[in-house]
Amino acid sequence: MPPQDFDGAVFAAARDLPEESLRYGAVFACRESDFMEAVMPFIELKDVRKEYVMGEVKIVASDGVSFSIEKGEFVIIVGPSGAGKTTVLNILGGMDSCTSGEILVDGREISKYDRRQLTLYRRNDIGFVFQFYNLIQNLTALENVELAAQICKDPLDAAAVLEEVGLGERMNNFPAQLSGGEQQRVSIARALAKNTKLLLCDEPTGALDYITGKQILQLLQDTCRRRGMTTVVITHNMALAPMADRVIRIKNGKVDYIRENPAPTPVGQIEW
Ligand code: ADP
Repeated sequence: MPPQDFDGAVFAAARDLPEESLRYGAVFACRESDFMEAVMPFIELKDVRKEYVMGEVKIVASDGVSFSIEKGEFVIIVGPSGAGKTTVLNILGGMDSCTSGEILVDGREISKYDRRQLTLYRRNDIGFVFQFYNLIQNLTALENVELAAQICKDPLDAAAVLEEVGLGERMNNFPAQLSGGEQQRVSIARALAKNTKLLLCDEPTGALDYITGKQILQLLQDTCRRRGMTTVVITHNMALAPMADRVIRIKNGKVDYIRENPAPTPVGQIEW
């Protein structure tokens, strides 16, 4: 039975009703978002293809990638350099568009979005963490976080989020006065302050030493659990796979395999 629309705000989730109830026209009302959550994965990529054309040469960076991710999962996308990991993350984050295929995020088909819709999607729905932090050098840690918070709909308090990532004492420092790990914490705070449901991290520990990298991964894993925030982390380090709820391995632009992990390991217990 299809959902019924009441004032565009309320849906009848009749999916799980016994046959008997449907026959007598019983209807249980719930919010549209609840209905979506009950029936759809939070993220779904269906046969996503991305081609880059450079003169005579065509590079197929994504070659029919399909996977789904449930709300609140900590996901690792792993694979060798050049496999197509960043391409997938950029498309998911609205920074690039696919040549063909479908991308659904939280019930919306972002692969159909125009430029303006993608701008709003990046602004309001995505927190992004980059390998080299991408902080503005002449703004303090606090100002970097405030700047990002200012352009989105429902931001969190910048100072409170900096406290949360362990930088309460360093808010007034400029990036050059902070270590690599501290700068990455600022960049995570900047993403978290946007108060989005989805956090995308592209090799967030790629520029950090072993111990600092581990602390950053711990922060991401804890934040995902505490906030129930769907988190996708790209890495080429296969040893990190046990920390994720779901591991998606990409090879030559295709999904090599997907593994679900019912009992993820805290990153502190993983050695590599
Ligand atoms: P990974 O993140 O796994 O290292 P990428 O997604 O960055 O892989 O790249 C996949 C392939 O697509 C590579 O061959 C890369 O050179 C190519 N590629 C990525 N971005 C572009 C681009 N903007 N223009 C042309 N080729 C690109």
